[in-house]
Amino acid sequence: MAPSSTGNSAEGPQPKESHGEGVSPSRARDVLTACAQELGLALVGVTSAARFRRGERAARERLGQGLMGALPWYTEERIRRGTRPRELLPGARSIVAVAMAYLPQPMERDAPPGPLHGRVARYAWGRDYHSVLKKRLRRLAAMLSERLDRPVRSRVYVDDGPMLDREAARRAGIGFFGKNTNILTSAGSWVFLGQLITDLDLPPDRPLRKSCGSCTQCMPACPTGAIVAPYVIDSNRCIAYLTIEHRGPIPRKLRPLIGDHVFGCDDCQEVCPVNLTRGEPAQEPAFRAPQAFGSLDLRELLDLDEEAFRQRFQGSPIRRATRVGLQRNACVVLGNLGDRAAAPALARALQQGEPPVRGHAAWALGVLGGTQATRALQDALATEQDPWVREEVAEALATLSATAATT
Ligand code: SF4
Repeated sequence: MAPSSTGNSAEGPQPKESHGEGVSPSRARDVLTACAQELGLALVGVTSAARFRRGERAARERLGQGLMGALPWYTEERIRRGTRPRELLPGARSIVAVAMAYLPQPMERDAPPGPLHGRVARYAWGRDYHSVLKKRLRRLAAMLSERLDRPVRSRVYVDDGPMLDREAARRAGIGFFGKNTNILTSAGSWVFLGQLITDLDLPPDRPLRKSCGSCTQCMPACPTGAIVAPYVIDSNRCIAYLTIEHRGPIPRKLRPLIGDHVFGCDDCQEVCPVNLTRGEPAQEPAFRAPQAFGSLDLRELLDLDEEAFRQRFQGSPIRRATRVGLQRNACVVLGNLGDRAAAPALARALQQGEPPVRGHAAWALGVLGGTQATRALQDALATEQDPWVREEVAEALATLSATAATT
């Protein structure tokens, strides 16, 4: 797919010849294309600021079916606002949708991340995309204003507000929905999405006439079975949701399925044939920087205090998981890796961590077994005050007894 920035005709009302400020939509579009190229934005499309009816219907259905996880901010009101761009920017006429490739290196399944290390989703290997892409979009708005010689009112979103980013990308023709719900572009689905809502009248692009066809490879590839139907994700099972957004315990039955994913998951993207043919490395230097976070040392994570966590992950999307969330994930992965060399670090976490970390450390020690794990769990049972952590400790000891009885 070529960058869709040529202003083809599109769905919705046809653009007017000119508007009140004396700039014709086609000239505005030419200027947009030139500015986007200068800013290194290769994937750019335009859609009108009309309500997202299809996206609204799908979002309400998912929320009603309980598939959005326990996100307190994902509400009916958020969906209502996010599907009405003119409520986000009064007087809005167009949405400029952009996608920026982030793959740090050519796509291939990585080697296992090393002993007692956890795997990190590729989007988080580089610098925090929010600030990189937002700065670029704000600069784009400023350039449009300068070159069109008129004030341009605008509002920018990068995965941080109610805007339906994937639906905006689809309608603006920069990609199509995959069955894993990612947007598949000419750079595959390894892209960050951003939107500039503006009062500029721009000729909209057509949605692509492409689809996954008969392919279903991503569905069985999901370790937790979170793709419950084509184009439908159950966030309650999705490893990206569980390891990044979810606060609180990870359900016991899902913990073994998380494997070595300590932050996010790329499994449904890695098997996608579109990604295998189009996964070009990012042009943006911020995403090609040395991959400090390609994998994480799990024992080191367990020892971080709040200040050390802040320093270590400053400017990284990994901060989103929070220190306690990341340490909780580290415990789960250490349990899954099955290496008893992790027992001392887990025993320390069981004594000194916050309750969510103590509970998951108990689970991991129950999976690892061995003398040190058993002793740490017995000590915890004698002193632990938190009812949920006590329950986890008791479960872990029961697991160890059951294992001992069968060996
Ligand atoms: Fe679509 Fe197949 Fe890619 Fe899934 S793996 S998103 S079904 S092309």
